Amino acid sequence: MTASKIYGLIGYPLAHSLSPLMHNAAFSHLKIGAEYKLFSLKQEELEGFLKNASCANLAGLNVTIPFKEKVIAFLESISPEAKLIGAVNTIKISGNKLEGFNTDARGFFKSLTSDLNFSPQNKNIFILGAGGASRAVCVSLAKASPKKIVIFDIDQAKSEALVNRLKENFEGVDILAAGSIERLGEEKFELLVNTTPIGMKKDDPCIVKDELINPDMLVYDLIYNPQKSALLKLSLEKGAKISNGLGMLLYQGAAAFEIWTGLKAPVSVMRRALMKGAAK
Ligand code: NAP
Repeated sequence: MTASKIYGLIGYPLAHSLSPLMHNAAFSHLKIGAEYKLFSLKQEELEGFLKNASCANLAGLNVTIPFKEKVIAFLESISPEAKLIGAVNTIKISGNKLEGFNTDARGFFKSLTSDLNFSPQNKNIFILGAGGASRAVCVSLAKASPKKIVIFDIDQAKSEALVNRLKENFEGVDILAAGSIERLGEEKFELLVNTTPIGMKKDDPCIVKDELINPDMLVYDLIYNPQKSALLKLSLEKGAKISNGLGMLLYQGAAAFEIWTGLKAPVSVMRRALMKGAAK
């Protein structure tokens, strides 16, 4: 089938993406004449690429590091959720109109609640990292009435800025910045989420010390390559329940697919393609 519409991922660098496998499997399953490609763009190429999007037959894009905030300046509108998170990971292109969305929050929440059966309501939650992915994760959790969210980032100004931003929008939720990672051992947390990239490289150390993991926690690492980061290996040894970020990747992709096509995403087909790609 010839591809009449082009979709793709923009970012730099784009070494390990599983998104083409997932989306091309969905297009092929639904017999849609479309193709999903990778577009590795330098900073100075971003504006020209987006301005020419409709001429290049582009109908939708995913956005990753380092463009999730930068693309906003070139979009006609952004969804209320993307505005709240302050980042766009999905763009719908209709003619010359570019609309921005964020499906990371939905992707994380669906993975957490549907696949892992974890309800954040009334739970103590500890978040490692206060970058772009953390903002999406924290918004999705803050909406679900947790008891407390504690955020730790090596750059304390960053975690404090995120806490202040969240407090403005979620007045009833107890949200605070931790001065050190040891705060994790000071009370019982039911959910620990790693939103930092620590664990992606083969010789990365475990981000958390042994004694800070308790067996009653669910430890969710947004990293999916490797499938078991040092944090997940340690947590498993300690008897905790674990999840990597493949579920989040799947559901953010499914939500993007639905925004682009208006069709229900074939989630099981997309999941199978992802699993196959991740196992390689
Ligand atoms: P980011 O914006 O760079 O945020 C990472 C944050 O973690 C930064 O604030 C960083 O601080 C902080 N950090 C680094 N080392 C730390 C440490 N030892 N302790 C505490 N904080 C630390 O990156 P991102 O876009 O949020 O992405 C983060 C990770 O999530 C990546 O691995 C990415 O692949 C993954 N991700 C997965 C999915 C999925 O679908 N599964 C979706 C989005 C992102 P500095 O800036 O000071 O270094």
